[in-house]
Amino acid sequence: MHEVSIAQEIIEIVKDYLPDGNGISVKSVKVDVGDFSNILPEALTFGFEVLTDNSGMKGAELIINKIPLTVNCINCNYISTLDEPLFFCKKCKSPNVEILTGTELKVTEIELND
Ligand SMILES: [Zn+2]
Repeated sequence: MHEVSIAQEIIEIVKDYLPDGNGISVKSVKVDVGDFSNILPEALTFGFEVLTDNSGMKGAELIINKIPLTVNCINCNYISTLDEPLFFCKKCKSPNVEILTGTELKVTEIELND
């Protein structure tokens, strides 16, 4: 389950952003997860919960914002939103497409408790 190591990376990123000092606790962490990033949101949430329990971030909530897979057609410039990773243009059926979104994994927001 590689989601656990991804959860670990997210926690490291959050810790890097946190100001030093006692009494700071993380309320929630928002992440963008692409539909084609090969990450199971449920597994990522589970891994995050397990790891935060042991990292001084107990109670922090992981909020996952799923990003759909979209591709831009090199042929006709049409942007398709794909439900499955079948890489072709929905308009002209060309397989000559570039991925725009759907592969990302990034922390977008960290909310602290007062
Ligand atoms: Zn096209």
